[in-house]
Amino acid sequence: MAQTSATASDELAIGLSSFGPVEEVAERARYERDWSGDHVGRARVVVRPRSTAEVQEVVRRCAAMRVPIIPQGGHTGLVGGGTPADSGREVVVSLERMNRIRGIDAAGFSMVADAGCILAAVQDAARAHDLYFPLSLSAEGSCQIGGNIATNAGGINVLRYGMTRELVLGLEVVLPDGRLFEGLGGLRKDNTGYDLKQLFIGAEGTLGIVTAASLKLHPRPTQVETALLGLPSLASAVGLFAQARRDMGDLLSAFELMPRACIELALEVATDLRDPFDPAPVYILLEASTGGLVELRPILERFLERAMEAGHVLDGAVAASTTQARDFWRLREALIEAQVRRGRHLRTDVSIPISAIPAFIERTEAALLATAPECLPLAYGHLGDGNIHLNVVPPLGLLPEQADPFLQRCEAIVFAELDRLGGSISAEHGIGTKKRAAFLARKPALQLDLMRRLKRALDPDDLMNPGRILEPAMPKGSS
Ligand SMILES: Cc1cc2nc3c(=O)[nH]c(=O)nc-3n(C[C@H](O)[C@H](O)[C@H](O)COP(=O)(O)OP(=O)(O)OC[C@H]3O[C@@H](n4cnc5c(N)ncnc54)[C@H](O)[C@@H]3O)c2cc1C
Repeated sequence: MAQTSATASDELAIGLSSFGPVEEVAERARYERDWSGDHVGRARVVVRPRSTAEVQEVVRRCAAMRVPIIPQGGHTGLVGGGTPADSGREVVVSLERMNRIRGIDAAGFSMVADAGCILAAVQDAARAHDLYFPLSLSAEGSCQIGGNIATNAGGINVLRYGMTRELVLGLEVVLPDGRLFEGLGGLRKDNTGYDLKQLFIGAEGTLGIVTAASLKLHPRPTQVETALLGLPSLASAVGLFAQARRDMGDLLSAFELMPRACIELALEVATDLRDPFDPAPVYILLEASTGGLVELRPILERFLERAMEAGHVLDGAVAASTTQARDFWRLREALIEAQVRRGRHLRTDVSIPISAIPAFIERTEAALLATAPECLPLAYGHLGDGNIHLNVVPPLGLLPEQADPFLQRCEAIVFAELDRLGGSISAEHGIGTKKRAAFLARKPALQLDLMRRLKRALDPDDLMNPGRILEPAMPKGSS
């Protein structure tokens, strides 16, 4: 017989039993850990409301009893923001049952979707109307649009279409006291006072629960060209990017960096794929796309000729079919899977000025290898956005109790180089609990003061995702 939650009576005490509570312990585990398994906690109750009104009611009841809330999407955030703490005090509000596309305005290039819609479903709904929602990331089959908004997600198309912030026309948000911020109007231009919706984008659920969004759509690209290129060096990757921007302008939609070590690791997992051409030190996966009357292939070919003449490119392949294009992208995805298979490893998600990327990678890798010659540093990512994942796979044979100190030492090395170059410790994934100390140590005092004031203004009792981004508030009355 299924084991039932020890907190069922608790849930009744807060009056949440009619909001889809998850009572079986085995099933609750899914809501108490994240995709990576690095973040695991214990929820007081897990509820799954079906409508905005139900979310409001849950929040009102929790607020009345001063019970903290964790808004939760698809569990793919990697910084512990959507996972409950160990305390067992927090109520998880999963948006998974709010998954309706509310409407599409094809002439106005916009869509209104519930926050719990899976990102891939939002993309599919746009495609069904011959439109395009450009947010795209490896986790798109699991992450939710509400989670994307809460984290201001990036992904592979930022270069052309911007971060999630640029794709949001309006929001509906349940505030920490249960009131509803109704901002789904979706006007493209509205200069009346402060643009309040921006506060909730990237707030990681600390200022309210996003329940729906009005999203900006684009014309569906009818021509997409994908090329995998082999380059002599990291410096040539930066040179190639500058040339691609000048030669192809806004037709360039993705520019992903993968040094040789990444390709080798990816091929260990994607065993049906072969080395695409003679090994090169550095690879760029590039995509250009367009709709309308522009002819894309000749532009790409002229750009590649010029890139070879300039010595930026040694070899390469332009996908001859959508299957081949997909295989190029599978290399990028297999790289993530291969790291997961190696077990616990350091994940970072940093940004630096694009021209500083070669120095950052070379210096950081040298410093890492000086500390641990057997470790495997992997530096890859959205070069066109200055966003690099400088990850570290620990040496084989590291004992479990040695893992944490080792990963912390590696992170300190990465962040020290980043500080020297004026970078950011989070380009995409956010702060959550995992990066809070590093964030608080680096953000200027004035900016932290403004953030704390904003948090107090909207959430005076610190009930919405407490301890995420900022430190938890001191209990009232304590000094
Ligand atoms: C394999 C893989 C690849 C990834 N690639 C990228 C990438 O390329 N670019 C990128 O930016 N990220 C990437 N990520 C990170 C992750 O997918 C994004 O951060 C994503 O936006 C999180 O969405 P989610 O629905 O899974 O949110 P969750 O993990 O459930 O939550 C993330 C945060 O948002 C809050 N939240 C969730 N839903 C709501 C809501 N409705 N209202 C208010 N707050 C809410 C949570 O409290 C938490 O703080 C990747 C992750 C994985 C596992």
